[in-house]
Amino acid sequence: MAKKIVIVGGGLAGLSAGIYARMNGYEVQILERHTVPGGLCTGWSRGGYHVDGCIHWLIGTKDGTPSNRLLREIGALDGTPIVHHDVFTRIDTGPAGNAAPFIVYGNADRLREHMLEIAPEDACAIEDLVARIKRLADFPFPEKPVELMGIRDMFSFFATMKPFYADYKELGKITLAEYATRFKSPRLREGIAGLFGDMPDFSALGAAMMLAWQHAGDGGYPVGGSLALAKRVERRYLNLGGSIRYGASVSEISVKGGKAVGVVLANGEKVPADIVVSAADGHATLFDMLKGRYVTRALRRMYETFPIFEPLLILSLGVARDLSAEPHQAVRALKKPISVEGKTHTKLGVKQYCYDPSLAPAGKSVIEIMYSSDYDYWKRLSADRAAYDREKALIAKTLIGALEEFYPGISADIEMTDVATPLTFERYTGNWRGSYEGWRLTPRATTTRVRKTLPGLKNFYMIGQWVQPGGGIPNAVSSGRDLAWILCSRDGKAFKVAAS
Ligand SMILES: Cc1cc2nc3c(=O)[nH]c(=O)nc-3n(C[C@H](O)[C@H](O)[C@H](O)COP(=O)(O)OP(=O)(O)OC[C@H]3O[C@@H](n4cnc5c(N)ncnc54)[C@H](O)[C@@H]3O)c2cc1C
Repeated sequence: MAKKIVIVGGGLAGLSAGIYARMNGYEVQILERHTVPGGLCTGWSRGGYHVDGCIHWLIGTKDGTPSNRLLREIGALDGTPIVHHDVFTRIDTGPAGNAAPFIVYGNADRLREHMLEIAPEDACAIEDLVARIKRLADFPFPEKPVELMGIRDMFSFFATMKPFYADYKELGKITLAEYATRFKSPRLREGIAGLFGDMPDFSALGAAMMLAWQHAGDGGYPVGGSLALAKRVERRYLNLGGSIRYGASVSEISVKGGKAVGVVLANGEKVPADIVVSAADGHATLFDMLKGRYVTRALRRMYETFPIFEPLLILSLGVARDLSAEPHQAVRALKKPISVEGKTHTKLGVKQYCYDPSLAPAGKSVIEIMYSSDYDYWKRLSADRAAYDREKALIAKTLIGALEEFYPGISADIEMTDVATPLTFERYTGNWRGSYEGWRLTPRATTTRVRKTLPGLKNFYMIGQWVQPGGGIPNAVSSGRDLAWILCSRDGKAFKVAAS
């Protein structure tokens, strides 16, 4: 009889694990607390518009790359056009009134030209960056899970890594802000340090990889957006015979004799299993569902000291105005600084989604403004629902006012307003402190490997963004695939991938 796997969470990691486990003959049931698949990979419809709550760029959108193979195997890209932007983003540098854009072209040669125009005195640093981007565009990813690699696999993987080793070692150790100091030009310094918004401690390697994927044309956007992608993956899972139960919130992982034997739902119902996989939030899994009993010192240190991707405050607007001629993503310098959550901001990040016609009626646009947010600020406010709502309304008013600097009269065109706070992400996905991508890719996190198993607990695995520092959809998907391969290996079976 096939072993029964119960997966907690129907985000991309849970769905991916379910798909590959079904391909390999396991019986699988996903228990998802929400009413839709996808977890953080989601979107929501409001007043005739659709707000995309996730994908800005997706590694794996170029045919033939390792991540593309994964996304195709799980049906994520089935029949979907991909948009590749020539310009990744543009960042105003210098003071408002005298600001000039640093344009982050996807193509590294075009980027070099632009940077040399800005700062010929930085020619050496620019050439160095461009060479790294081009090299890293071919960065290899192991096909086999690291957990299953023998000495031979390791040697052959390290051999493929050789051309990238120097970049990996050097950039992996420093932050983006540190890397930016290699440029003399204040504009380039500001632009490079601002590539990941207000995350100057982001790993320089992570940032260089992002530019490399853009250069390779492997970081596009699937038309239809994030929820549509999650639904395609859910369809693939169901077509393979998997089952998913919505509105099923797991409160406890049942353990007998050092083995996971099932889960208990919030309503008290027990669901037995031969193998339990948590593809849900890492903190809740370790400290709530398992009551902190299997937390190692290393894990505790991680949860106490590693920075996470801070949660987001997102204002989305549906406007009766065609903004398709505007940059799809830009960080603008504000003439009049604004206060959001009590903090002063001199920049406004604005995104328009006209490149995806499925999100707004013809001739209209969805705009998104996003800031890193303070979870505790919103948590405190939520004690008083009216105060929480008032703050959301005030922030919307402030940001719309700021938008007027760049789009005069836009307030009159607004047909839909939606504010998502860190608590929105926490409520809908259960992620710890509303984090949108798990462990921030700092130099320390870059070299940290998180295990999928816990000492002293058999038949239990963790997957998803909390065991793959840096998070993101491809990481979630690969952790699900790795898990199925590990289970096959444990059961003495060859790992198989079924064609769609
Ligand atoms: C605004 C935003 C922008 C992003 N941009 C990008 C991007 O451009 N590119 C990219 O690759 N990634 C992006 N990400 C990150 C990406 O969405 C995530 O890293 C990835 O989807 C995580 O998948 P996961 O399956 O590991 O976790 P999750 O998506 O968190 O899935 C966990 C699932 O478990 C469920 N769950 C939790 N607790 C329980 C429980 N007790 N019982 C049952 N079910 C439970 C949740 O409801 C959820 O469905 C973005 C995320 C956000 C929010």
